[in-house]
Amino acid sequence: MRYLYGPVPSRRLGFSLGVDLVPLKTCTYECIYCQLGRTTNKTIKRGVYIPAKPIIREIEDFLGHMKNPVDYITFSGSGEPTLHSQIGPIIGEIKQMTSIPVAVITNGSLLFMDEVKKDLSEADLLVPSLDAISKTVYETINRPEDSLEIDRVIQGIVDFRERFRGQIWIEILYCRGVNDDPSEVAKMKEVLEKINPDRIQLNTVYRPPAEDFASPLDEERLREIGENFGAKATVINPYQGDKSPGRKREVEAHIIDALKRRPLTAEDMAEILGLHPQEVIKHLKLLLDGNAIRHRLHGHKIFYEIPR
Ligand code: SF4
Repeated sequence: MRYLYGPVPSRRLGFSLGVDLVPLKTCTYECIYCQLGRTTNKTIKRGVYIPAKPIIREIEDFLGHMKNPVDYITFSGSGEPTLHSQIGPIIGEIKQMTSIPVAVITNGSLLFMDEVKKDLSEADLLVPSLDAISKTVYETINRPEDSLEIDRVIQGIVDFRERFRGQIWIEILYCRGVNDDPSEVAKMKEVLEKINPDRIQLNTVYRPPAEDFASPLDEERLREIGENFGAKATVINPYQGDKSPGRKREVEAHIIDALKRRPLTAEDMAEILGLHPQEVIKHLKLLLDGNAIRHRLHGHKIFYEIPR
């Protein structure tokens, strides 16, 4: 499978089949905490980054041979999925093929565009991230493409909420000393009230970030912020829900074997193991959580290795 990965265990979405619509790493942002490393193609230009037909054929093939049901078909992957100008028709085709719910994990930056709102209207779940409200904090943490403005991004999410029939779960990733200031948190609370999402999920830097100065918030402060946001808010626990049978053990054994020889990046491992980089990253997260491997930054690349 070239454009699909998994099914992979997901902390929030159970067992999820990933669909990747853009080449690594094509995004409207270059977040300091990004686990995919630095953005190589920072753009807001929508286009057919990958032809839709082979993606749809792969999904059809997967569904035709599926042995165990998956909880979601999820658009996520090597960058920002709404940059693909045919995401709407692709979602439409999936809805014709199966009743498995469709989720889109997005940074929400293009929701101000009418065509993006239309394209996402048939999804069942949208998980937009929103890490900052103030211009300077937004520019520091998300490092957006030059033309993007946070006020317009927020308005796009608010407008989409009003017409969308599915669920919206907002994800906020907190980095210590960057977006956790009390005044920024207070502004975030106001905006969340305006958006009125179904869930608010708080996250921090649990995984190797693109920049080594992106540091995690301590759990107590994260919980305190969550309580301030009210009953819809939960702190994502990285140590829950990542359980899956046989294939997990098999892939992780291959990763450990490869790392015993030399430190590797996720992309190196994807190539060696013939897997999608996102699938490798999901398994690397589980191995990091279990302290079976560790990571280090070298020349802006994230290398994984076995602790000695
Ligand atoms: S929006 Fe997502 S993919 Fe893009 S830079 Fe940020 S974390 Fe990485």
